[in-house]
Amino acid sequence: MSIFTKIINKEIPSTIIYEDNKIIVIKDINPKAKTHLLIIPKKEIPTINDLENEDSTLIADMFFVAKKLAKDLWIDEWYKLSFNVWEKWWQEVMHIHMHLLSEL
Ligand code: AMP
Repeated sequence: MSIFTKIINKEIPSTIIYEDNKIIVIKDINPKAKTHLLIIPKKEIPTINDLENEDSTLIADMFFVAKKLAKDLWIDEWYKLSFNVWEKWWQEVMHIHMHLLSEL
């Protein structure tokens, strides 16, 4: 079970910014920017390489949540979205997540 699944199950604490039945958004515990959120699907998918066709709506939903939060947080004219894939490219947690970063 990933650390993010434990967060989703409320077994370990986090600062939850948004939650619906498929996605949770938390503050990154070690922020690399003034705003640093993690948009995490509740389905535990290890890496982007493990995506299946059936996940396409879920991935699209992650982008729509990012768009909504950027607008809600007034950072929609200056933010960055990123995924790290595999450890060589700095993926620490093997449960896919989108980083939303902004210096605003
Ligand atoms: P990545 O390197 O793309 O796998 O990013 C994992 C991110 O998860 C890092 O930016 C960590 O700071 C963050 N992180 C790890 N554990 C926690 C936690 N318990 N709560 C919030 N963020 C976490």
